[in-house]
Amino acid sequence: MSKPSMKTYPKIGLTKCPTCGYTVDSATQAHGEEGMPSDGTVSVCLNCGGLGIYLADLTLRPINDEETQEVMRDWEAWSTIEKAQGYIRARGRFR
Ligand SMILES: [Zn+2]
Repeated sequence: MSKPSMKTYPKIGLTKCPTCGYTVDSATQAHGEEGMPSDGTVSVCLNCGGLGIYLADLTLRPINDEETQEVMRDWEAWSTIEKAQGYIRARGRFR
């Protein structure tokens, strides 16, 4: 987590991880052009490492298989996600 381009967006509004129900209130960008999460942005849950997709109102919905395949084809994005998930899962859930 030392990429200089990473930017955290606090208080994006409360939403819940579609995988574990953990309340998400901020987002840290780890890949792609700098900017707030928006419709279609892929999210990695800090609690469980599960993937979700941001909707336009910045709530999260579950990712579907097709979208997962699409992310996996973007090697750089996928390796960032796998690194994050590895860290999160090694650390264990907050609750
Ligand atoms: Zn989660």
